[in-house]
Amino acid sequence: MEGWLNFFRFFEHQSVTPVDDLIYSVHSGVIKITDLVLKQYGQLPHEGLVFWAGNISENIFNITHVIAPETESSEGRVTVPHSSIYHVVKALSNNKVIHIGQIHTHPGNWVDHSRGDDEWAPFKRPGLISLVVPNYCSSGMLPLKKNGIHRYQENQFIGLSNKYIRRHFIVVEGEAHFTDLRDKENIRWKQLSGTD
Ligand SMILES: [Zn+2]
Repeated sequence: MEGWLNFFRFFEHQSVTPVDDLIYSVHSGVIKITDLVLKQYGQLPHEGLVFWAGNISENIFNITHVIAPETESSEGRVTVPHSSIYHVVKALSNNKVIHIGQIHTHPGNWVDHSRGDDEWAPFKRPGLISLVVPNYCSSGMLPLKKNGIHRYQENQFIGLSNKYIRRHFIVVEGEAHFTDLRDKENIRWKQLSGTD
């Protein structure tokens, strides 16, 4: 019985190496801001979440924008209420960029997608990437292969192999545009900034 269970677990956590020529080019500023926001959540300590956006030119996804939506968060969970999604879509439209990915943290080393991550991902479009950063991002998110990187395709999130991540994800020197939609009056952020 145990053998069979392990057999299924193997498939559940298997990472794949898709054959394509897509390149995900992430501006260094995007990494810096994402680190910062996720670490702020980590201080609470809560799971945190941001969205990445940019543009696609031929086979290259240029990731230049970070959007921090208003969330509901706790030690083991972070979700984006429907009302926040409206503001995210508005920010995408105002900045003339498209949504490329979501990034969220987990408390420990586990960087697979949970069942909740699969179900509650607010945008499920083919090609969407989803990064899971371990340990509340306490040691930053580089190198990228330390994170779980998943991609939505064929109606499900699949884990991308380290080999794929190494070849298809690059960090390039560049600024980032940041839209912070978090409600600064919320107790979580007031506590953090010491105004409560
Ligand atoms: Zn998760």
